[in-house]
Amino acid sequence: MSNNMSKIKFNIIIGNPVKQSLSPLIHNFVYQKIGIENQFKFIKKLLEIEDLEDFVKNGDFQNLTVTIPFKEKIIPLLDKIDPVADEIQAVNTVVKTKNHNNQNILVGYNTDWLGGLIPIYQKICNKKFDFNFNSNLEKIIESQFLKDQKTVLFGAGGAGRALGYAVLKVGSQLVIANRTLSKSQKLKEELKLIFPKASITVVDNQGQLLANELEQAKIIINSTPLGMLKLQDMSPLDVVTKKWENSNQPIFFDAVYKPLETKFLKQAKDKNAEIINGLEMLMWQAVFQFQLQTKQYADIGFFQQSLFSSDF
Ligand code: NAP
Repeated sequence: MSNNMSKIKFNIIIGNPVKQSLSPLIHNFVYQKIGIENQFKFIKKLLEIEDLEDFVKNGDFQNLTVTIPFKEKIIPLLDKIDPVADEIQAVNTVVKTKNHNNQNILVGYNTDWLGGLIPIYQKICNKKFDFNFNSNLEKIIESQFLKDQKTVLFGAGGAGRALGYAVLKVGSQLVIANRTLSKSQKLKEELKLIFPKASITVVDNQGQLLANELEQAKIIINSTPLGMLKLQDMSPLDVVTKKWENSNQPIFFDAVYKPLETKFLKQAKDKNAEIINGLEMLMWQAVFQFQLQTKQYADIGFFQQSLFSSDF
């Protein structure tokens, strides 16, 4: 092994499954573009639940990226958790750092919600997010740019939770329209604890009440798997039994990124609505994760290029 190789730190994505993850593609591409490929290598590791604790405590890694089903389970294994990740109760980024006694500690963060927030900010405010990361993010949140606006959210799982958190953080009202009503209620109650003053309501995922909400919404989000691969011919809008029109120039946001143009986004185009695809969400959570893990800022263009550098 050369000297250079021996210095390489491993950033590892852990999950189950993890094979399909695009994170190594994105991060390794950007490491190479900014010349830190001799410092970091990003790899995948498939983990069984029963091996999580041992790996987090004894594994050979610098930082971790965490995906399903470990985002909540990893929290008690960490030394410290960032306040936002604590609110969301999900960690997708773990950074190894030193405490005041010069001992290694693991700190958990969540960047998934930023994958939702930044593309919405860019579209609504017609501004590009630049890299003065902390100050700008704070200003964006302070601006409450979705105040008095409504978001309809299909799905109440992990992605729904991060996206619901994102829009509430900038002042939106939230309407949750999940298939299983009890899960909508549960998400509502959890988000209400974080945002006690916010308007958060639950509707059935198909009837007149939902149609009314869709007519008033500024943002309509699909955080269900409808539209992806085997569910390609489906969209959460298919089961909305009442006709609806929205003259509010709504933005349709799909968390699904494979395929890039889902049925939901095609339906948006039929309504002449603006769209945000799931790749933008994936990319922006990676941008913030990269900065936490490498302490470097990389040109956003490199992240965009990474996603088109391979035929994923
Ligand atoms: P999850 O935790 O399993 O939640 C899935 C949600 O979708 C649940 O609320 C579920 O409803 C609903 N759902 C599932 N099948 C449905 C169906 N046939 N009809 C109606 N609703 C259905 O999954 P997740 O982690 O949130 O992921 C959801 C989607 O987002 C996936 O396609 C994933 O690839 C994508 N995603 C994208 C990104 C990104 O960066 N772009 C990040 C995370 C996830 P019930 O409560 O009724 O079961």
